[in-house]
Amino acid sequence: MDEKRKPEIVIQGIAASPGIAHGRAFVVVQDELELPLYHIDPAQREGEVARFEQALLTTRQQIVKVQQEIAGKLGEDEARIFDAHLLVLEDQALISETLRDLDKTHRNIEACFKEVGDRYVAAFDKIDDEYLRERASDIRDVVQRVLQNLTGRSVSNLSRLAEDRVLITRDITPSESAALDRSKVLGIVTDTGSRTSHAVIMARSMKIAAVVGARDATGKVEHNDWVIVDGYDGLLILNPSEQTLFRYGRLQLERKNFEKKLLESARQPAQTLDKRKFSLLANIDGPEDCASAREAGAEGVGLFRTEYLFLQTEAMPTEEMQYQAYRKVAEAFGAQPVVIRTMDLGGDKPLHWEGFSFEPESNPFLGFRAIRFCLEHREIFKDQLRAILRASAHGNVQIMFPMISGVEELEKAREVVEEAKAELRARKVEFNAQIKVGSMIEIPSAALVADVLAEKCDFFSIGTNDLIQYLLAVDRVNPRTAHLYEPTHPAVMRTLKHIFDAAREAGIKASVCGEMASDPVLVPLLLGLGADELSMAPASLPAVSYLIQHMKLSDATRLAKEALKGRDPKAAFNAAIEFYKDRVRDMG
Ligand code: PEP
Ligand code: MG
Repeated sequence: MDEKRKPEIVIQGIAASPGIAHGRAFVVVQDELELPLYHIDPAQREGEVARFEQALLTTRQQIVKVQQEIAGKLGEDEARIFDAHLLVLEDQALISETLRDLDKTHRNIEACFKEVGDRYVAAFDKIDDEYLRERASDIRDVVQRVLQNLTGRSVSNLSRLAEDRVLITRDITPSESAALDRSKVLGIVTDTGSRTSHAVIMARSMKIAAVVGARDATGKVEHNDWVIVDGYDGLLILNPSEQTLFRYGRLQLERKNFEKKLLESARQPAQTLDKRKFSLLANIDGPEDCASAREAGAEGVGLFRTEYLFLQTEAMPTEEMQYQAYRKVAEAFGAQPVVIRTMDLGGDKPLHWEGFSFEPESNPFLGFRAIRFCLEHREIFKDQLRAILRASAHGNVQIMFPMISGVEELEKAREVVEEAKAELRARKVEFNAQIKVGSMIEIPSAALVADVLAEKCDFFSIGTNDLIQYLLAVDRVNPRTAHLYEPTHPAVMRTLKHIFDAAREAGIKASVCGEMASDPVLVPLLLGLGADELSMAPASLPAVSYLIQHMKLSDATRLAKEALKGRDPKAAFNAAIEFYKDRVRDMG
């Protein structure tokens, strides 16, 4: 089909990660591959055979490419696994049987190939020889790939993406996004999801343009269609016209200049016009994010989401493996703070290790999550704490607990830290005995007793993503309720003020590490309410720094005062937008 003649279709979703991506689509449907079934006239036979040959050829190219990548990453031996896959593609019996089936049944080629392929798999599955049985799984894998290429649909594992593509998928889990090959994914579009889902937060930190909540994108886009992902305005543009391409080309150029300007400003201290300096720190998922954090001008790490170390492995990472990762980050930042949050598993980050898996829950965000899991699995928790403590000998490492709901939990978690310290002492291993221990404030009950919690820890970091979801009873990953997720709700404003006041009275620092801190429109409200420092995805840091350098704290305080009084979250949001626009007008 002539692609140029396909009409342009614009699908509105939610802007989730800034950036513009243009490329061919890779549509992933996580369910069983649905195969079409239709009649083929003898006159169409040649076309069907050509389609089959093309699919075999494409599959071959894909496998060779994956093989080369694996050879580069893991070595030649591992890459040889794919030799068996290439042999399946050349299996004359498989091919000629499929063609015979086509001639006999006059069904479309995918139906024929599936039937013959399944027969082969079943035959090899039954053989009482381990080596030959292994061949069944090779055949299954290759048959699946060929069928995907024939139908233009995919059920494949996202990490297998072999070429530069825009991913169009129903949903993407954090572990799937952790496994993505960043160099191959141009953009991400999901049917479901919201701005604060963890997979999206990862996309932002990987600087991949993303649009979520695009409803039926997977139904409308076909494999290999040309698409544009507009992560600024939340648009997916299918089959973009020449004019649209031209417009986006210019926009991309403007954005590049704009980002250059921002990066230059990020090298200056984030100091307001009335001379109040704020520290801007980075949210990271692992040592691989340190370079981009430093490049963006981060003065440390305000949130190291360690759970991704756990989601990337098939078994529990050992103390030693964790220590190596934490140490790398500590050393990358020298004397600057590195706040390591203990694992926040559960919720939308369930764990599936061999022999250990989270039970499905009807309310995972209210369930067995984060510190609740750690306090019941003390040994796993202690492994992590010992690894963090050991890393504290190599930098300014601090510990932070997620999902603290009250003082008892905080005390129990601190007890485990003391046990971990005692064990290290017994092993005569070095660590910083004065290590700072902080608490996330992301549950309303913790916010209400912030004064009591402040006496028991060295700092607060406010997780607005969860705090807003729990305060307003709005699921942070449900696109149906995304419009109700209002950071400028007066209840949110008042709760934040309450936490900042409690911290100030106790003489401890309160920072914000939820997504609010990465939104330059909302940052003046946070600073005006009393935030001491902000931690965000490195990609957001230059824009936030620029804004701080072009505003007065006294003006932000006035803006926040109005928002505290207000009854209308929309009015507060609009006032914040005006505030922002007035200060960035000259940005270009
Ligand atoms: C938050 O809840 O705001 C936060 C920073 O933690 P996470 O997004 O990892 O739940
Ligand atoms: Mg949270």
